[in-house]
Order: sequence, then structure tokens, then C-alpha cells
Amino acid sequence: MNKKTVQDVEVKGKKCLVRVDFNVPMKDGVITDENRINGALPTIKYLMDNGAKVILCSHMGKPHNVFNEKIKLNKKEKKAVEALPEEERAAATEAYIEKAKKDVKKYSLKPVADRLNEILGGKVTFATDTVGADATTKVNALKDGEVVLLENLRFDAGEEGKDLEFCKKLAAFCDVYVNDAFGTAHRSHASTAAIVEYGLVETAVCGFLIEKELTIMADSLENPVRPFIAVLGGAKVADKLNVISNLLEKCDALIIGGGMAYTFLKAQGGEIGASLVDNEKINYCNEMLNKAKTLGKKIYLPIDTVVAKSFPDPIDAEIEVEVVDSMAIPQDKMGLDIGPKTTELFANVVKSGKTVIWNGPMGVFENPTLAKGTIAIAKAMAESEDATTIIGGGDSAAAVATLGFADKMSHISTGGGASLELFEGKVLPGIACLNEI
Ligand code: AMP
Repeated sequence: MNKKTVQDVEVKGKKCLVRVDFNVPMKDGVITDENRINGALPTIKYLMDNGAKVILCSHMGKPHNVFNEKIKLNKKEKKAVEALPEEERAAATEAYIEKAKKDVKKYSLKPVADRLNEILGGKVTFATDTVGADATTKVNALKDGEVVLLENLRFDAGEEGKDLEFCKKLAAFCDVYVNDAFGTAHRSHASTAAIVEYGLVETAVCGFLIEKELTIMADSLENPVRPFIAVLGGAKVADKLNVISNLLEKCDALIIGGGMAYTFLKAQGGEIGASLVDNEKINYCNEMLNKAKTLGKKIYLPIDTVVAKSFPDPIDAEIEVEVVDSMAIPQDKMGLDIGPKTTELFANVVKSGKTVIWNGPMGVFENPTLAKGTIAIAKAMAESEDATTIIGGGDSAAAVATLGFADKMSHISTGGGASLELFEGKVLPGIACLNEI
């Protein structure tokens, strides 16, 4: 890792603006999973212990920009308004804006500030705005070792819009900028990159969470202990095009399961029945199969498949299934999980790896009958005790946690989108902008 961390700069008495990822799941104002808060604690505690004035900022969900004079409707609302007769549009727009104003509580970071204050022994205050009067007063009142959490950055359109004036106001809270929000490091928003990109802050470093994510994931990609096995699954090939191509160059073998496998099977001349397919990507799949051959790498695809007549509805409904050859799925059936032979094959390949990375379930794991393939991969990784095992966030991380294998993995990324972009070989804006060693 060639980026400076909080340990490389002087923080005593300095205003440290820390971008964290406090986008925690909440139900009725109660935090239902504190993982993201816990993930940020090492950096926050380090800064407090070393006498910094800590200004925390984060987004939460996708709220409307209620701190701006003109509240914009989201895409779905705009579409709904446009579908109405001309004379009804103004009233409908007004109704959406009123609802957005009422939703402020739903997206407020206040419950996170309260919880953090409990954890950190009463040292945390909360600012009811982001860069306004309350935030300014509270930031100016901070003593060394104290913390303020600003309200949800996305209440202000300047955050996602990378507005220069908004960035300037944020930068006024900041002698040292610390990015510790790996989950948003692939975004170029005001607080994740732009305040540094615009030259408004000179000292920009990462916190311990980003340091850990980068050290484990980027280093494993660049210098893996071999054999290096990559496992990809999930619904769509299109989402993972560049990931497949980049991983093929780095890994020794690539396992492809889940909904995305059927486009590959069709590309090989298989009958895939009513399974998920992306016909526009068949050529791409052939290119990847050829690329693997040229590079002397192996792509493992399902050899047998668990099929059903239709997608389970609701998703966890009881479902009647059978196992068929992956290249000969009956016309009226769809593949919804890898079959037992494939499960054994994939698990053995996983176990042969010294570095294993995984992103995307092997089947519709939300349904107990269709979760067996995904469970088997998680179990094989958990049992690979002397291998570096990395879960790339998102659904696979959720599956591993639900199955109780979380503490058996070397690393579970806190950023699904960000880790996928790392796997793609992209440079993440939230990391690129930081000072180099
Ligand atoms: P992704 O967001 O691309 O990682 O996809 C995750 C989703 O893929 C999960 O909700 C799974 O239910 C779904 N999925 C996995 N396998 C299949 C399949 N064979 N057919 C349809 N959906 C699938």
C-alpha cells in the first residue's frame, strides 16, 4: 500500500474531517446492525487518543436533498409525475416534496450519533446540519479528543453533485482529511474525493479500515499466494464483465456459478431452458472462454443444475426442484442453483486454492432449497484454514454472516461495489486522491 495513513501525519490539535461509512441498516429509528459503526471505531479512537478534533461525516441511504431550497424528485418519482396528465403534475410534485421533508427523520444520522456517544463515553455531539450554522458552531467548540458527527451529507445536493461551494465549506472543517469509508471509495462525491481533488485540502490520508481493505485485497490481487482461485456468481453477466476479464489475467482458475453461468453455458452450445440469460453477452462469454484458453487458465462452469418450473414467489416459498445436466436444461425449466456434482467439483477447486476470492451467490440463496451451492462454497472457504479467503461484500458477505462462517474468513469486505471495482483493476477515486508515502 503506497498511501499515507492517519499514523503518518500529525493530528494533535488538528481538525480531522473523517469520511466514514455509517450507512447502517435501521428499522423504526433503531440500528439493526452495528458492523459499520464498529468498523470505523479503530480510526476514531486513534484520533481521539492522539488529541485530534474529530469531525465525522457520512451518508445514509438515498434521501432527497432537503437542505437545498429546490428539492429534486428521484428518477422513480419523476417518471410517475410525467405519466400523469399535465394538469395534475404540479400537485403531485408538491406531494412528493412534502413527503421528502417528512422523511428527514428516516435518513437522519442522529441515532448513530447517540449510539456512538454511548460507545465513546459521552464525547460525541451531533450537528443537525452538514455545513451550516449548527455544524460550524459545534466544530468550533470541539476540544482535543472530542467528536462531532455531521448530519447525513446527502441531504445536501452538493455532496453527490461535487459542488465546489459545498466542498469549500466542508474543507473549512478540515486541517487533515481522513477517508475511512471503503464502501463509498468507488464514488467521486464531495466528501469521498472532490474536496481533495479540488485542491482544498493538502493533507489527505486513509484510516485503518481502508488500510486493511487495501492491504488484504489489493495485495492479494497483485501478489497472490498461488493457486489463486476466483469465484464469481450472482444474477447478471453484464455487471461483472470487466471483473471476469481482469480476474482471468490474475487468477489460476475462475469458477462461475449463479445466474450468470447460463450465458456462458449457452455460449458453449448448451440448452439452458428458461434460465436467466443475457443474449447480448454471448460473444463476450466466448471471448472470455477463448481468453482463458490462450492464457492457459481454467474456467469452471456448472456441470449439473438444480431446476424448477418458475422463480420462487415469494422468494423463500417452498419449491419443487430436480437436478439436470447443465448443458441440457428442459425448455420449460430454469436453473436456480448449482447441482450436487458441481457443488463437489467447485468445493474441491476452492479447497485447492491458497488465495480464494468470492463475489456473488451460486444460486437463489434466499430460498433454503436453492441455497445449498452457496452454502457449500462458503463452507469450503471456511475450511481452507491455510488459505487467504476474501469475500467481496454484498450478497456473499450476507450469506457468509448468516451461515455463521464470518470469523472463519481472512477478510470480509465492507464494500460490495468498491471491492468489485478493485477486482476489475480500477483505481478508486476515494483512494487515488490520498497522499502517497
Ligand atoms: P448479484 O447482485 O449480481 O450478486 O446477484 C445476486 C442475486 O442473484 C441474488 O439475489 C440471487 O438470488 C440471484 N441469483 C443467483 N443465482 C440465480 C439464478 N440461477 N437465477 C436467478 N437469480 C439468481
